[in-house]
Amino acid sequence: MTFKTLRDFDLKGKTILLRADLNVPAKDGVVTDTTRIDRLKPTIDWLVQHGAKTVVLSHFGRPKGGFEAEFSLAFLTKDLQESWGVPVSFGKDCIGSDALALVQSLQPGQVCLLENLRFHKGEESNDPIFTKELAKLGNIYINDAFSAAHRAHASTEGLAHLMPTGAGFLMEAELNALHNALESPKRPVVAIVGGAKISTKLSVLDNLVRKVDVLFLGGGMANTFLFAQGVEVGKSLCEHDMADEARKIMKTAQDSGCEIVLPSDRVILKEFGKNAPHTICPTKDVPADQEAVDIGPDSIALLRNKLTGAKTVLWNGPLGVFEVEPFDKGTNEAARAVAEMTSGGTLVSVAGGGDTVSALEHAGVADKFTYVSTAGGAFLEWMEGKTLPGVAALNACKSAA
Ligand code: AMP
Repeated sequence: MTFKTLRDFDLKGKTILLRADLNVPAKDGVVTDTTRIDRLKPTIDWLVQHGAKTVVLSHFGRPKGGFEAEFSLAFLTKDLQESWGVPVSFGKDCIGSDALALVQSLQPGQVCLLENLRFHKGEESNDPIFTKELAKLGNIYINDAFSAAHRAHASTEGLAHLMPTGAGFLMEAELNALHNALESPKRPVVAIVGGAKISTKLSVLDNLVRKVDVLFLGGGMANTFLFAQGVEVGKSLCEHDMADEARKIMKTAQDSGCEIVLPSDRVILKEFGKNAPHTICPTKDVPADQEAVDIGPDSIALLRNKLTGAKTVLWNGPLGVFEVEPFDKGTNEAARAVAEMTSGGTLVSVAGGGDTVSALEHAGVADKFTYVSTAGGAFLEWMEGKTLPGVAALNACKSAA
C-alpha cells in the first residue's frame, strides 16, 4: 500500500476535507452506538493539534438526493463534541456560499461538520461538478471512511483526483489490519465464517478458500455445506438450491490446500424460542423434525484444536442464532477462545462485517481482538478480494500532494 497518511502533510493553517463515516446507528434522534465517532478521535486530535481547519463530510442514511429532515446530520454535533472534546459548528449545506462562508470563518484548530452529502444527487453519482464544488472548500482531502470505501462516490473517490489526498488514522488502521490478515498474513491462517446463508457470502467463501489454510464454517450456512455432502439437516435453515455452489467451493478449497471444517455436533430443537428445550447431537444425527440452531461443545473443542498453532484468524458471522439465549453459547465460546489466544500474544485476530461486531460485543470480547472493523459492506467486499474504489483512489493519488 502506497498511500499518504496524515503524517505526510504540513497541516498548519490548511483546510482539511475529512471524509468520515458518521452513518451511525440512531433511534429517535439519539445515537445508540458511538463507536464510529469515537474511533475518529485520533484523527481529529491530530488535525486540531497541528493547527488544521477541519471540515467533516459524511453521508447519513439513504435520502433520495434532496433535503429530508430525518437524514440531517445536525443532531450529531453534540455527540461529536462530547467524543472529540472540541466545539463542532454545523453548516446547513455541504456545498455553496453558506458552506464556503462557514469554512472560511474557521480558525486553525477548529472543526465544523457539513450537512449530509447525499442531499445532493452528485454525491452518489460521483458527479464532477459536485466534486469540484466540494473541492473548493479545502486544501487537502483526508479519507477516514473505510466503511464507505466500497462506493465510488464524490466524497469517497472523486475528491482524490482533485486534491492532495491521504488516509486518516482510522482508514490506515483498517487497511493495515486487513492487509495483515489476508494479503500478507502470518500463517497458518484460520477463517471462521458463520451467518445465515451462503448465497450472501459466495464470493467471500470463494476468495477465502484460495487464501486461508483452514475455513471453519458455522451458523446456518454450515447446513448447506452438510446437505451438499449428503448429511441430513432436518428442518435447519438450509439453501438446498445452493448445494452445487457449496460443492464448487469445497472443490476449490481442495485444489488450494484449504481444509474446510464443519461442526461436529449441533444444538437442536423442535420449536425455536428463548430458552426453548434443546439437545445436543452429532452433526450426522440431526432428526428430520428438528433444526440446528448452534454449534455444540465438540465443535468448540474442534475449533480450539484448529486454532492451536494458528497465527492469524479472520472472523465474519455468528456461529449460531446468537441473538437468542442460550443459542449464543457456540459463538460466545468460540469468540472467547480467539480472544484468549489473542491476549496470549500468539494470534492476530481480525473480525468484521454485518452482525459480527454485535456478536463479539455480546460475547464481551470485541475489545480483545487485534482489530474489529466497524465496516459492514466494505469489509465483506474486501473479504471477497475486490478492489475498493475509495482505497484504489488513495493509492493512485500518492503523488498528488
Ligand atoms: P449474516 O448476516 O449472514 O452474518 O447472518 C447473521 C444471522 O445468522 C444472525 O441473525 C443469526 O441469528 C443467523 N444464524 C446463525 N446461525 C444460524 C442457524 N444455525 N440457523 C438460523 N440462523 C442462524
